[in-house]
Amino acid sequence: MGWNRKVLRVNLTAGTCTSEPLNMAWANDYLGSRGLASKYLVSEIDPKVDPLSPDNKMIMSTGPLTGTMASTGGRYTVVTKGALTNAIACSNSGGFFGAEMKFAGWDMIIFEGRSPKPVYLYVENDKAELRDAAHLWGKTCWETEATIKSSHQDPLIRVSSIGGAGENGVLYAAIVNDLHRAAGRSGVGAVMGSKNLKAVAIRGTKGVSGIKDFPAFLAATNAGKKVLADNAVTSQGLPKYGTQVLMNVINEMGALPTRNHRDVQFEEAGKISAEAMHEKRPTDGKPHLVTNAACFGCTIACGRISKIDETHFSVKNSPKYWGASGGLEYEAAWALGAANGVGDLEALQYANLLCNEHGMDPISFGATVGAAMELYDLGILSKEQIGVDAKFGSAEALCKLVEMTARGEGFGKELGLGSARMCAKYGRPELSMSVKGQEFPAYDSRGIQGMGLAYATSNRGACHLRGYTVASEVLGIPVKTDPLVTDGKPELVKAFQDATGVFDSAGICIFTSFAWTLADVQPQLQAACEGDWSMDKLNEVGERIWNMERQFNLAAGMTAKDDDLPPRLKTEPAKTGPAKGLVNGLDKMKPEYYKVRGWTPDGVPEKATLERLGL
Ligand code: SF4
Repeated sequence: MGWNRKVLRVNLTAGTCTSEPLNMAWANDYLGSRGLASKYLVSEIDPKVDPLSPDNKMIMSTGPLTGTMASTGGRYTVVTKGALTNAIACSNSGGFFGAEMKFAGWDMIIFEGRSPKPVYLYVENDKAELRDAAHLWGKTCWETEATIKSSHQDPLIRVSSIGGAGENGVLYAAIVNDLHRAAGRSGVGAVMGSKNLKAVAIRGTKGVSGIKDFPAFLAATNAGKKVLADNAVTSQGLPKYGTQVLMNVINEMGALPTRNHRDVQFEEAGKISAEAMHEKRPTDGKPHLVTNAACFGCTIACGRISKIDETHFSVKNSPKYWGASGGLEYEAAWALGAANGVGDLEALQYANLLCNEHGMDPISFGATVGAAMELYDLGILSKEQIGVDAKFGSAEALCKLVEMTARGEGFGKELGLGSARMCAKYGRPELSMSVKGQEFPAYDSRGIQGMGLAYATSNRGACHLRGYTVASEVLGIPVKTDPLVTDGKPELVKAFQDATGVFDSAGICIFTSFAWTLADVQPQLQAACEGDWSMDKLNEVGERIWNMERQFNLAAGMTAKDDDLPPRLKTEPAKTGPAKGLVNGLDKMKPEYYKVRGWTPDGVPEKATLERLGL
C-alpha cells in the first residue's frame, strides 16, 4: 500500500500527541509528502494566517516510496506557510530522517499551536511524547543531535532540529537533519522556532511493510536503478563532482549570477568549482573534497563531504571545524561565492558549515549578503552600519557576516530578515534578487529564459526545484531546448512544475530526474500503492497539486503581480557571454503560461480547470 495509513498529530499548546488514520481519499488524489501534506495544510489553516502565529501549522511528511528500496527513497518534506514568503512552503530534505519516520510507522506528523516552553518530540515506533528542551534551547543543530542521541543512549535515533537561527527568527532558518541535510528554504525553521519546538527525534524499527505487489516492486525499483546506473550524469557526473559540476558549465553559458546579478559570469568561478574541490591545496597538499556520500537508499550519491584547510583564517583557531563535513553543493557554493564575488573556496565552506550548524538556508543567506554588498557599494550602507568592510569579493566579510547572522548580532539581525525586507528598509527594494520574498538560486534567467518564468510563477518563491528547466535548456534532458529563446517555455515550465510535484510527493529525490522521467517512477508507484497510478493519473496529480498551492497563495492575498522578476532581470541586459544583450522575456511568456495552465489573464485558475482537477 505504500503508506502506513497513520498520522501523528501533535498539539503543542496542549502538549498532546494523538494518532489518527491517514485520509486515504486524499492520498489517492495527492499521493503523499508535498502533495498530501499540502492538502492537509490548506484544509486546516486560514491562508491569511501570520506564519509565525500559533494558528499556522507545520507538517513533516513522507511519501509512499520513502523508506522503501526505491533509489533515493529517503526524502521527507516540511509543509507550512513560509515565514520568508507568506506563501505555501514545502521544503524537502534527504539524509535518513524521513525513512526513520516511516520505519516508526508514521506517514506524517502535524504540529499545531505553540508550546508554552521549549520542547522536543520524541517518537519511538508507536510511542510519541513531548519532552522538555530547556537544556537544548540555545544549542546548535549539531549539539542538539549529539545531546539527544547521548541522553537516550541510542546513536541510531534520527534528529531534525533548529539552531539559533530558528530560535531567533532568522526568516530563512532551516530545519537540519543528519548534521548536513536540511529542509532549507522559505523559512520553515523560523516557523518551527515560533512553536518552541526545538527538535524531532525518531527511532523506528518496524521497517516498511505493505508494498502492494512486492515482486513487481522489486522489478520496478531494479529497473529504475539500472536507468540511473546507465546514465552518465547520475552514475558518473554527480557521484564524482556533485551538483557542483554545474559551476563551470553555467558560468560559460553566461548564466551564473554574479555580484547580486550585476554580472552573469564570475571570473573566479574555476576556483570554487567541482574541479577545484578535487585539486590539492598549496597550503597542505590535500584536496578539499574527502569523499562523496549518499542519502538513505540512494544509488547516485551526489553528496559532498569535505575538509576545510586548517590554516585558513576562518578556522585556524577553531579546531571544531577541522573535521570532515557536508558541502559544498552547487547552490550553496554559488550563493556564498559568485553572488558576492567571493572566490575563496575555504571561506565558502566555512560559511556553509555555519549555515548547517546554526540552521540557515545558505542560498537566501548568501544572496542577502550579495544585496547588502551592493547597498554598501552604492554608499547606502556604511562600514559602521554593517560592522565590516563589506565590499564585493571580501571573504573576510562573508565569514564575519555569517557569524553575526547565526548569532543574531548587530547587522546580522538585518541580514536575517532576507534581502526583500532589508532592501526595502534601505529604500532600494528593487535590489533584492527575489520572487515572493525568496532569493533566487544559481541560474540567471537572462541566460536561461525558462528559469525566469519558473522563478516568477513558483508557488514557494524563487526556486530551482519547482520547475528545473535547466535540465532541458542546458543539459538536454529529456529534450534540448534553446536557453536564449522564450518560445515553447510556458509549456516546458508547466510540464516541469507538474512532474516535480509527483517526484516530491512520491518521496524520492528530484535529482533522479537527470535520468528518470515520470515513466520511470510510474511502475514503482503502481507496484507499491493501491489503486490506479497510470501516467494520466500522475500527470493529473501533479497539476492538481500545483493548482491547489496556487489557490492557497491567491487566498493568502497574492495576485499576478507577485509572479514577477526584479526589474534588473527585465531591463538590464546581460553584459557578457552567449546571452550578452538579452533581458528575460517574462512579460512575453507569462500571459501564454496562464493560458496553458487554464488560468485567467489575471492568473486565477478558471472554473473549468478547477472542476477538471476536482478542486
Ligand atoms: S541524489 Fe544526492 S541529494 Fe538526492 S538522495 Fe542521492 S545523495 Fe541525496
